[in-house]
Amino acid sequence: EIKNVNKNYFGSYSSFAIHREMISDKVRTDAYRQAILNNPSLLHGAAVLDVGCGTGILSLFAAQAGASSVIAVEASEKMASVATEIAKNNGLLWSGSPNNRISQCTGVIRVVQGMVEELDNSIDIQPHSIDVLLSEWMGYCLLYESMLSSVLFVRDLWLKPGGAIIPDTATMFVAGFGRGGTSIPFWENVYGFNMSCIGKELVEDAAGVPFVDVVDSQDIVTNTVVLQSFDLLKMMPDEMDFSSRIELEPQLDNPTNCTRDSFSKTTWCYGVVLWFETGFTSRFCKEMPIVLSTSPYAPKTHWSQTILTFKEPIAIASALAKPDFDRLAAVGTESCPAVKIHSRISIARAASQHRCIDISLEI
Ligand code: SAH
Repeated sequence: EIKNVNKNYFGSYSSFAIHREMISDKVRTDAYRQAILNNPSLLHGAAVLDVGCGTGILSLFAAQAGASSVIAVEASEKMASVATEIAKNNGLLWSGSPNNRISQCTGVIRVVQGMVEELDNSIDIQPHSIDVLLSEWMGYCLLYESMLSSVLFVRDLWLKPGGAIIPDTATMFVAGFGRGGTSIPFWENVYGFNMSCIGKELVEDAAGVPFVDVVDSQDIVTNTVVLQSFDLLKMMPDEMDFSSRIELEPQLDNPTNCTRDSFSKTTWCYGVVLWFETGFTSRFCKEMPIVLSTSPYAPKTHWSQTILTFKEPIAIASALAKPDFDRLAAVGTESCPAVKIHSRISIARAASQHRCIDISLEI
């Protein structure tokens, strides 16, 4: 079963389209590029291991930054061979023995095809000899794909004591979104026709099904809280499964929250949105720390955000007795104080399909 899952997973990374999408994500690729090129005290002369090199882009940056050796590991056969060709065509592929390297001044990158978990001494690196572990392992909602466990495995076996992981922190955030974050407004006015029955059905169907989409920061109706933070240097793999209590407070200074619903001043929270940041912190990136953010408040990335819709919207400020699903159903005008949302969010790797995650949301 696991073999099959992996076959499909690495098969999906054989398509060039996915690599193009990642490389074209400038927020993502520039964050890595800047962290690698602008922290010479970290990269210069370093022994680097790139976990899941894909096209080899991060290894190429590391070579450019003056790393003394770069081992680029990639499970997909197709991508490993492409990465080899790319490193070679750019004069950055290591060609053979250390002596050769000195005499011919060849590059520093060695591409190894295979699962990083199966690396062995045959490539003449010793356990605990790597200075910098480099990886772009983040999936949707940070943990989808569960590639982080591969990074932690490599850390424990190959990283030097005192060695660096790039990036070295990851933080998940959560906030509540309002009506504008749903498909309701779109279907309310389609070339002047009211198609709101579709919006209503979509919101009802979305309950219980996490999905990936862009949320506009203007549609956020609560404060932002940290759901979980990870220190990649110290964390244990089982920390990837967690359960956190959160408390969200209305944040009504957002001008569109009220005006979008011209029917009343009530603000409804329709669900929560999750996102993450990874930190290239000053612990290792001394000259130039970097944050890679997938927040709705920051420029868009290919990760978008992850949306969890409630079964029914919750009025978090001002007053209406019923959800304003079809605009005519809204009743009552008494005002009530702002309501806090208390919730528990749990994320765990799925037992049946180890690359998937189970997300649960309790209100
Ligand atoms: N580093 C590249 C690609 C990132 S995508 C870039 O930044 O553009 C992640 C890559 O890691 C995919 O190509 C996938 O096939 C590979 N990968 C995931 N898990 C792996 C593992 N356990 N061993 C080796 N490669 C892995």
